[in-house]
Amino acid sequence: MTADNGRWIRNFVDGKFVEPDEHRGFGKVDPATGAVHARVHEADRPLVDRAVAAARRALDDGWASTAVRERAALLRRAADRIEERFEEFVAAEIADTGKPVTQARELDVARAVSNFRTFADVVAAAGQESFLTDLAGGRQALNYAVRKPLGVVAVIVPWNLPLLLLTWKIAPALACGNAVVVKPSEETPGTATLLAEVLAEVGLPAGVYNVLHGFGADSAGEYVTSHPGIDGVTFTGSSATGSHVMKTVAPRVRPVSFELGGKNAAIVFDDVDIDEALTGLTRSVFSNTGQVCLCTERVYVQRSVFDEIAGGLVERARGLRLGRPLDEATTTGPLISQTHRDKVLRYFELAEQAGAEVLTGGGVPRLGEDLDGGSWIEPTLWTGLTNADRVVREEIFGPVAALVPFDTEAEAIALANDTDYGLAASVWTNDLRRGHRVAQSMDVGMAWVNTWFLRDLRSPFGGAGLSGIGREGGESSLHFYTEPTNVCVQL
Ligand code: NAD
Repeated sequence: MTADNGRWIRNFVDGKFVEPDEHRGFGKVDPATGAVHARVHEADRPLVDRAVAAARRALDDGWASTAVRERAALLRRAADRIEERFEEFVAAEIADTGKPVTQARELDVARAVSNFRTFADVVAAAGQESFLTDLAGGRQALNYAVRKPLGVVAVIVPWNLPLLLLTWKIAPALACGNAVVVKPSEETPGTATLLAEVLAEVGLPAGVYNVLHGFGADSAGEYVTSHPGIDGVTFTGSSATGSHVMKTVAPRVRPVSFELGGKNAAIVFDDVDIDEALTGLTRSVFSNTGQVCLCTERVYVQRSVFDEIAGGLVERARGLRLGRPLDEATTTGPLISQTHRDKVLRYFELAEQAGAEVLTGGGVPRLGEDLDGGSWIEPTLWTGLTNADRVVREEIFGPVAALVPFDTEAEAIALANDTDYGLAASVWTNDLRRGHRVAQSMDVGMAWVNTWFLRDLRSPFGGAGLSGIGREGGESSLHFYTEPTNVCVQL
């Protein structure tokens, strides 16, 4: 069994790869060069029907009632097998995204392994809620909740950290005994397909994990989310698509878990260790070419250290190395596509129209040879913008940030919270009390102090406002992927 059959990246339904239909292929572009390197088989409605039916059958044939220890053991075997095939996953991640090999190894594929191991542990350790209720006359009642799998879960994921975000959902979904129908992003079909091989190899029954390729509206994404056989939707992507998916599932009142966009703030106080803050800010603005939902695009800096922070960040941005993904010295890859680069470049124009000063970047780099066909962009920093400007209000999803000065703590909190999003924030200070105080006042799902994107996978992850609905991670994931039945026994 191979994932791409030489030229094709195929759908995986009911434990088998589906032979592609020549008339339903679309090109998979290498973001680093712009060259098409594979064909992807776009799933049609009948194939979606087959996948949902296979998932239901797998649940009914016993997967839903498998012992927890068997499911946990299977997740551990999956983690081991990804480690054995580590470099194949790294190659598939790079083919999907063009990201640097060091990042694919240290973040994306390593996190896929951790996702499976963490949820094996979490599900094995999970208990049931129970309450002993005192009744009149000295009698009691015992209440306990039995958690059952949600059922057939639609898993819709984006292109920025495709394997990491997919396994973040698949691991707890399978741990809880669900069957899944996965629709990876049309930009990044590779790793989800390779994962199908691994899950089959470690003994996951046919039909529990299905992968369907295609686009969103009027394609596989919408066919899956609107399917009457789906019991819940877990979605990571943009807020606009989240809203659309919510409307799609509304008639059937199915549960949704949404991890959506962000316009995340960093607040830098003047008591900070400047060098440490610059290292953290460089990661938070430029990691994955700014294509992480948690990335910082608004940096509020206390006025007395503004110039020092701005100057230091510019220097570090200029030190980033754009280049070939397989070059270990490369720090920064391309954007995912020309379409996405056009979007980011429109924000460059908007920044100019709003009177921004471009501290560094602001254009398209020339990297030479075939790389000039890729969707590269310069890491870019602006000053002179305010919270009233679209560039500071809307998610850009590129290696960019606007630096804005502030004077007081109260002003910084107000500026950071002045957004429709509510995903993440980071606070940079050496004052312990201030760090806790400001972090707690952020209207976000995750606030970091003197760090960024440091994750304990047992802790809740998600966003407020336009950034999402619900939390995933640890027990929060178990809650989404199960449906409780409360049993009350009068004793
Ligand atoms: P997107 O919303 O365009 O697409 C996400 C997925 O949804 C893709 O698989 C796409 O094919 C599918 N889709 C699109 N339209 C659909 C429809 N009508 N019905 C069903 N499925 C549909 O997002 P993207 O551009 O792939 O990813 C970038 C976005 O994801 C950014 O906004 C980013 O902030 C967000 N994101 C959020 C998190 C988080 O954890 N909060 C993590 C990563 C990315």
